Amino acid sequence: MSRSLTDQLATLLSFQPVAKAGPHQGLSVAGQIEGFPALVGYHRNMNLNGVTYLVRFKKGTLSAKPDSVLKWFFEAPSLLEAMGAQKIGNRDRNFMKLGEDHFYFFRPYSFKAPKPEQVTNILQNLVLSLKKYSTPLGVACESCGSGTKAELFAVGGTLMNVCNTCRARIQEEDRQAQAHYARKSSNPFLGTIAGIAVALTMAFVWGALSYYTRHIYSMVAIGIGLAIAFAVNKGMAKVTWYGRILAPILTVGSVLFGDYLFILFSISTQQHLLVTKELMVGVLNHFFQIEFGRTASGYISVFFGLVGAMVIYFSNRSPVTERVFIPIGRMT
Ligand SMILES: [Zn+2]
Repeated sequence: MSRSLTDQLATLLSFQPVAKAGPHQGLSVAGQIEGFPALVGYHRNMNLNGVTYLVRFKKGTLSAKPDSVLKWFFEAPSLLEAMGAQKIGNRDRNFMKLGEDHFYFFRPYSFKAPKPEQVTNILQNLVLSLKKYSTPLGVACESCGSGTKAELFAVGGTLMNVCNTCRARIQEEDRQAQAHYARKSSNPFLGTIAGIAVALTMAFVWGALSYYTRHIYSMVAIGIGLAIAFAVNKGMAKVTWYGRILAPILTVGSVLFGDYLFILFSISTQQHLLVTKELMVGVLNHFFQIEFGRTASGYISVFFGLVGAMVIYFSNRSPVTERVFIPIGRMT
């Protein structure tokens, strides 16, 4: 969120800024407190503004069941005081997770972001509480146990203390996973069939909805775009350029065909005409004039359909990416 709040956090905690790391991929600050690596930042999560707290401890060293530890956590008066709360509500609990090697807490706020001083105070108290029930991370590489050359990194959604050799190995594994995905074959035939089937179904649904309600709900076109792009991607088993081009074309076709059906049946009802081949051709001859002529509704529908098809693209990319290691420093 605000850079200046994050800057203040960095100063108060002697942490360093890390972009695109941590659970919400935003700007955070990371460092260590009493041997516990920690990351904190003003983020957005599920359309809520909030503050992310992430503290790492040594894997498997939690001295009791996570539920019990969390319960004790929030009986600590100093932590409650730092949070400015009498007790921890359900909303806070829903955004909290104590795993086998980390504690994660996203604390939403409603209007004003909590001051960096308060965030710092909460984080320090969280670490003090964790210290009672778990062991600091230590200097050794978490992957191979080598104790001399490890360094703390912000990696993906977490913090990790690894040596150069292990880091190179992890990155190589990521590259291989990516290469494996790239080699995976796609099925354009199945993708095309699935896309056409959904496009036709959606055209009839769209046409029928407009016909019976006597109204064109342009926003519904987003759903059509989403459904078609989803069907194409599923059918092809892998996102390719062919699918990226096919889905919007089918979406435009589906929306236009749906509008055509709507106009056809509306005219047939109003003029008391049977739907014959002549009527179909007649409507088709004047279709683009009606659709894009007097009102902009045709353009609007097509636009919303394309929005839907685009949403799928941006959410449906290669599932594997090479993780970026952002160095934080040596553990002490
Ligand atoms: Zn190692």
